[in-house]
Amino acid sequence: MPFAREDILRLESLLSASGHPCIVSHPRPDGDAAGSSLAMASYLRSLGKLAAVLLPDALPANLGFLEGAGDVLVFAKDPEGVRRALSGCDLLLCLDFNCLSRLEGMEPAVRECPAPRVLIDHHLNPERENFSLVFSETQISSASELLYHLLKALPSVSGDIDRLPAGCRTALLTGMTTDTNNFANSVWPTTFAMASELIASGVDRDFVLDRLYHDFKAARLRAMSEILLNEMEITPEGAAFFIIREELWKRYGLEEGDLEGLVNIPLSIGEVRLSASLKETADGPYRVSLRSKRGVSANRIAREWFHGGGHEQASGGKLFVGEDVASREEVPDYVRKALSKL
Ligand code: 5GP
Ligand code: MN
Repeated sequence: MPFAREDILRLESLLSASGHPCIVSHPRPDGDAAGSSLAMASYLRSLGKLAAVLLPDALPANLGFLEGAGDVLVFAKDPEGVRRALSGCDLLLCLDFNCLSRLEGMEPAVRECPAPRVLIDHHLNPERENFSLVFSETQISSASELLYHLLKALPSVSGDIDRLPAGCRTALLTGMTTDTNNFANSVWPTTFAMASELIASGVDRDFVLDRLYHDFKAARLRAMSEILLNEMEITPEGAAFFIIREELWKRYGLEEGDLEGLVNIPLSIGEVRLSASLKETADGPYRVSLRSKRGVSANRIAREWFHGGGHEQASGGKLFVGEDVASREEVPDYVRKALSKL
């Protein structure tokens, strides 16, 4: 991966000068947010630094196996703990998001922190002006993959990944695995090289896959079945969408992360070129997830219709009742319109 030599040297000197680095990532953290953040923390802790990971929301249960998962400071549960960590912070490492507003409620606390900010991310349109140093690649699987190549390029690692702690290497493989949907999308030659090197270094991929994909409760599959059966609509233009009702969420006792992957399933239908999931929440906006096949821009629809963004083929956003639509009854029509021009 070709990085500018001066950027790598700058990163190395920022990391080595820091005693209390803070690592931040996006709300409702997925495998890549958690994997890249905890990998960074594991590496910095191996250098003796007091690294803190600050996330807006708690990790889903299936990511609890990652080293350091139990030490994450969660803004939604402990805003004071997060503020305290930020008050002693001398370097902010921002992973797997492209603009400060993505941090939602945690944004002001992070903005006020005077420490230099380093961005390590793979989304379109990074907010470069808000960071002292930017590593942004979009032709890559994940923030975890980008961090892998960056760590390898540091003079102190000099390509020898055995110098990275085992927990760091496992977290990097985890983040890449979930963002590619287990090698199904946004996989590049560099992604296979990374996986191959990590597995050769001793990372137990079978263990990671078991934790990620083989440890859910039955209610998850039953809820998915009910949604696909009763809620999925396929439009004449080749889009599929469904609404995840608050009532269903409660009835099955679902938790954050339980329906991860559901939005990909309608893409298995030949004529479906875009899939949209809308999760109803009791008091906030609908949370929108979009996935598309090549040639259709999920990103454009997320930006133009759902106040969001992300990647070309995987994006997300929100839909506000009282702003985008007058009432919940109008949501399906709004979505049909948004998805009518692929
Ligand atoms: P997911 O559908 O898995 O929640 O998110 C898919 C992609 O869209 C992720 O890369 C994520 O960062 C991005 N994304 C999700 N929600 C939002 C949002 O509200 N705003 C923006 N800008 N991007 C989002
Ligand atoms: Mn990511």
